[in-house]
Amino acid sequence: MRALRVPALETGRIACKCRSAIFRKTTSLTPAATPDPADPARRRLLAAGALLAQPGAAALAQAPPREGVQVGPRSSFESLVPAAQIEAEAARGYREMIAQARAARRLAPPEHVQLRRLVMISTRLRPFAGMWNPRAIAWQWEVNLINSPQVNAFCMPGGKIAFYWGILARLQLTDDEVAMVMGHEMTHALREHGRSQIGKQVATQGTIALLAGLFGWSNASRQAANVGGHLLSLKYSRDDETEADLIGLELAARAGYDPRSALSLWRKMEEASKGAPPAFLSDHPSNPDRLHTIAANIPRVQGLFERAPKPEQRFGPPLAG
Ligand SMILES: [Zn+2]
Repeated sequence: MRALRVPALETGRIACKCRSAIFRKTTSLTPAATPDPADPARRRLLAAGALLAQPGAAALAQAPPREGVQVGPRSSFESLVPAAQIEAEAARGYREMIAQARAARRLAPPEHVQLRRLVMISTRLRPFAGMWNPRAIAWQWEVNLINSPQVNAFCMPGGKIAFYWGILARLQLTDDEVAMVMGHEMTHALREHGRSQIGKQVATQGTIALLAGLFGWSNASRQAANVGGHLLSLKYSRDDETEADLIGLELAARAGYDPRSALSLWRKMEEASKGAPPAFLSDHPSNPDRLHTIAANIPRVQGLFERAPKPEQRFGPPLAG
């Protein structure tokens, strides 16, 4: 497992800005001409400067560590492809997939109780998405439920979420467990794991068709690249999986869902993988340390969960069978 670090949003960069602001204020109070230390105005200015500096310095010295999970830096490969274009292609791929599900009468209608459940849970998690990716504040989030026995779920770049009936019915997920899956999937989009994988492929394989699709914008090149379909078929790395587990845990805890349910979720997933592994696990490779890593991080989010407003409405899983 790689070293864990605090997200860039809440690390020393903010402290540095604060420090330089204090420095500017303090130094601007110092006259450029030769000062007279006995001058009362000069003494007042120095005292004011000291007062300005002290609270800031004290705040810096006493700044509490970030509450929540700690993860590593983002992949540098993501910068090779523009986020807006990845999100546009993901939206196109999602629309096509939803249209196909609708044509096959496999799309849950808006009033379906299990879809309302998914929408409610995603709505509770979404306010915390911007902490991990400022672009997410402007995303047009969508949630759909597809009537398929697959044990699977995903969230594409730009916040396009789908759950398959099989993951709810076969694993008999509680609301807290659904929130853990939702948080995990949202994290893949928020931390742009798909974008960095495509960036890595562009860097290592020189995927010309992919670049043509991204930058050429002709229908032919877009179809050749099929970026949207490509995003749907990505398999994530173990590092991405660990990051999705941890940030997902925090998102769900902040939304009022019990972080201990991440353990029961993955135990159910392991149980279901005896025999043929569910699609979810083949797209999201597990590792022997998963439960241990999650368990070790629960105390980091327990306080967030305890203080969070809890959902007023609770749903049950679909009837088994
Ligand atoms: Zn995953």
